[in-house]
Formats: sequence, structure tokens, C-alpha cells
Amino acid sequence: MQVTDNLTLINEQLNEACKKANRDPNEITIIAVTKYVTIERAKEAIDAGIMDLGENREEGISAKWEVLQDKPRWHFIGSLQTRKVKNIIDKVDYIHSLDRLSLATEINKRAHRTINCFIQVKTSEEESKHGLDPEEVIPFVKELQGFSNIRVAGLMTMAPYTKDENILRNCFRTVKKLQDSIQELHLDYAPCHELSMGMSNDFAIAIEEGATMVRIGTALVGE
Ligand SMILES: *Cc1c(COP(=O)(O)O)cnc(C)c1O
Repeated sequence: MQVTDNLTLINEQLNEACKKANRDPNEITIIAVTKYVTIERAKEAIDAGIMDLGENREEGISAKWEVLQDKPRWHFIGSLQTRKVKNIIDKVDYIHSLDRLSLATEINKRAHRTINCFIQVKTSEEESKHGLDPEEVIPFVKELQGFSNIRVAGLMTMAPYTKDENILRNCFRTVKKLQDSIQELHLDYAPCHELSMGMSNDFAIAIEEGATMVRIGTALVGE
């Protein structure tokens, strides 16, 4: 399937989810997750109108950056080793996987400008899922005060791989509630306007529950 055809289908689902939730489709950004695909395929996504690309490894972002430079906005979506921060920091616009103070310290130290960060929240017991437990998130946000190169743009989560809508909705609602609590703190470094949640299998539900950025790989550019 061509990316444009996939994108048409995704936009239909996106629009339907927005209608159900009484939301404006323009509030939603589609991030094409290109971690499994070639640079050519990533280019195809850009030609189809996608402006945001997501990669989960330093090698992936570096190789594609060589060719595409800052044409798309780059999102780092994978677990990030502290020692790799310096290699990606000038390439990325968003880091979706901030989950510990040592990583925040390194990002703050290496950045030459403000980096939009998402705090990753663990909403599933799956061992492979990273992130802070929900009750750790607010204290962590408060600890980021004074990290002048870090802006808490929002929260990110990965729901478990399941078809059970209730489980998915509960995950997304947990994160939405945390966003509300953070916004009530009125911290200038943590506007927390964005919610990065929803992947190929669950993005429509995530949108119904408040997602503003969906990270779509398989359904958009393929595996
Ligand atoms: C791979 C990946 C995605 C995209 O997954 P698909 O199911 O292929 O859409 C989204 N978010 C993260 C963090 C990923 O690692």
C-alpha cells in the first residue's frame, strides 16, 4: 500500500473519532513512526503531507537525518540511554521518553535550545513498557523546575497490546487526568498541552480520550 492510501484511511478514522468526541481534527498531529522502514519510505510519508517523523533508536534518527535534515520535525520515541543524548539532541524537536532525573539532567546539559519533552507514563504492567508510575509523575514534574532547557510539552504512554477497549480507555484516561493535574499547577516550564498516545491499533480510541499526537508506524508506513 502506498503511504497516501494508508493516510487516507487513517484520516477517515481520525475524523470519525474526533466527531464522536466533539473534537477538532486540526488538534491532532500524526507522527509517522519510521523505525522499521527505509529512508525512501520516510520520504514518501513526507511527500504525502506528514510533517512529523518518529524514531526509537539513535542509529535510525541519525541515518535518516543525514538525508532529510530538518525537513520533518523529529520525535524520539524510544527508551533513551543517557550516554546517547549528546548524539541526538541537536536533531530532535521532541523527546517522548523522559522517565528519570538522570536523563533530564543530561538533556538539560547537552541541549543548545529548549527541548520539548514528554514524560512517559507507565499505564500497563507489561515488563517491556517503560515510564514512571502514575503517582510518580507530579513529583517528577516538580523536580524539573530549574532545568532551563526542558519544557514539559506533555505526557506520553504506550497502552498494552490488547483489543479490550476498557483496558485501553483506562490507560488513556489515567494519563489525561494527570495532564489536568499538571495544568492546574500552572508551571511555566510545564504547559503540558500535548498527549502523545495511540498507535496503529488504538489511535482512534486514544483520540477519543484526548490524544493530541498519535504515533503510527505499521498502519501508515508499514512494518
Ligand atoms: C513502534 C512504536 C510506535 C508505532 O507502533 P505501530 O504499532 O507500528 O503503529 C509507537 N510508539 C512507540 C513508542 C513505538 O516504539
